Amino acid sequence: MTYVVTENCIKCKYMDCVEVCPVDCFYEGDNMLVIHPDECIDCGVCEPECPADAIKPDTEPGLEKFLELNAEYAKTWPNITVKRDPPADAKDWDGVADKLEKHFSPKPGEGD
Ligand code: SF4
Ligand code: SF4
Repeated sequence: MTYVVTENCIKCKYMDCVEVCPVDCFYEGDNMLVIHPDECIDCGVCEPECPADAIKPDTEPGLEKFLELNAEYAKTWPNITVKRDPPADAKDWDGVADKLEKHFSPKPGEGD
């Protein structure tokens, strides 16, 4: 089992999650984060920290696509452990539909 970053992180990217993870298993893309499924120890402390409610346990149904996406990009995006300012328009993107299809960026973020 692992925790998974899902669609609502895209363009919200608040980064509260990275500060609480005891094993530093968040990786940063251009406009979202992912969790490395082999590094996550399933502690669950990040889930309630996410203001966008974007972190879910992989035991929830329907997350296959995001589990795959987290696993794939955690291999190449840089590690992130320190929170930076969220995007200025993060609030406007909270809850917007079809973000994966329309706004996902495969580009890496800055990392720490
Ligand atoms: S706190 Fe939530 S929205 Fe922010 S980066 Fe982490 S998963 Fe994404
Ligand atoms: S569940 Fe725990 S180990 Fe996994 S990403 Fe969240 S804080 Fe890190």
